[in-house]
Amino acid sequence: TRILGIEGTAWAASAAVYDSGTDDVFIESDAYEPDSGGIHPREAAEHMHEAIPTVVKTALEHARETYAGPADEPPVDAVAFSQGPGLGPCLRIVGTAARALSQSLSVPLVGVNHMVAHLEIGRHTADFDSPVCLNASGANAHLLAYRNGRYRVLGETMDTGVGNAIDKFTRHVGWSHPGGPKVEAAAKDGAYVDLPYVVKGMDFSFSGIMSAAKQRYDGVSASQASDSGDPADEHGESDGSVSLEDVCFSLQENIFGMLTEVAERALSLTGSDELVLGGGVGQNARLREMLETMCTQRGADFHAPEPRFLRDNAGMIAVLGAKMYDAGDTIAVEDSRVDPNYRPDQVDVTWRTDEPD
Ligand code: ATP
Repeated sequence: TRILGIEGTAWAASAAVYDSGTDDVFIESDAYEPDSGGIHPREAAEHMHEAIPTVVKTALEHARETYAGPADEPPVDAVAFSQGPGLGPCLRIVGTAARALSQSLSVPLVGVNHMVAHLEIGRHTADFDSPVCLNASGANAHLLAYRNGRYRVLGETMDTGVGNAIDKFTRHVGWSHPGGPKVEAAAKDGAYVDLPYVVKGMDFSFSGIMSAAKQRYDGVSASQASDSGDPADEHGESDGSVSLEDVCFSLQENIFGMLTEVAERALSLTGSDELVLGGGVGQNARLREMLETMCTQRGADFHAPEPRFLRDNAGMIAVLGAKMYDAGDTIAVEDSRVDPNYRPDQVDVTWRTDEPD
């Protein structure tokens, strides 16, 4: 099966070609980078509008070059696209492009849930049977496990997504988007200071820790301003107070500790001994280390896909699209409306035949 995948829920305009025969995934992406602040939905949509035709063209050229069949046949069996969740203006552009391509190539359309794609790419690359999945992405954070034909949401954020929470803090500090990698780098030189840690049952909250981290930072910059001239002030440490590096370190320790705690509880609840990680925040080495340690301690296997499959990418859309296409899970154009709030537990999992009790 050969699938053209298109992704465009927020910042990544991306197209991919997946061939299940060779397991080869070709991905072409063009990222939207805001000049200042975070992701502006209108600007993101403008970027999507400009970038989608180019990335699709490159992916289609690759599909044609690698297709062994007759030149007058379409080089893919179907077009899969991210149907949601995501920013409405971006999703609508991708939906329109996917419909047009499916018509012009005369192949069916597959509507893929972006969150389910984040977790299925982990299952695919690890060859796991029925793992618990931690989705740690920009706009989301949840733990999912499969049961009776659906991915059930075992735990989730009660407010913002995990990446967005970190990005809000870095915006306050004045760092450019995305903030996650900058916090990761700064955290290397930090020490622990107290910040809120909020897990309620299987859910977690990031808003309290974000406000506290911003306040801590405001304290750092105020102490720098009042005490200039001292080189030690660069880190706000001349009075023994907290440095920005300390705030970044502690932010990571608490946020990732919360995710690890709930991931462990989800493993224990389901009896699964496999954990996969998904989403852009999954590129963080400290988060991976914490999850790996927790899994080793309880004898579970841990898998984090390579970075190109963690951040938003059309490869994961094409890979899940192929599984859905093989299961006959295609949609008519009239059913292909995008859904900005499309939840993973709304998806009928047609491509899995296992039914754990
Ligand atoms: P979603 O997939 O939920 O729609 P999205 O499109 O914003 O969200 P992703 O591409 O999965 O998300 O992830 C982007 C997020 O990953 C950003 O918030 C960014 O700060 C974060 N991120 C990227 N690299 C790192 C890192 N090394 N450490 C922590 N966070 C990171």
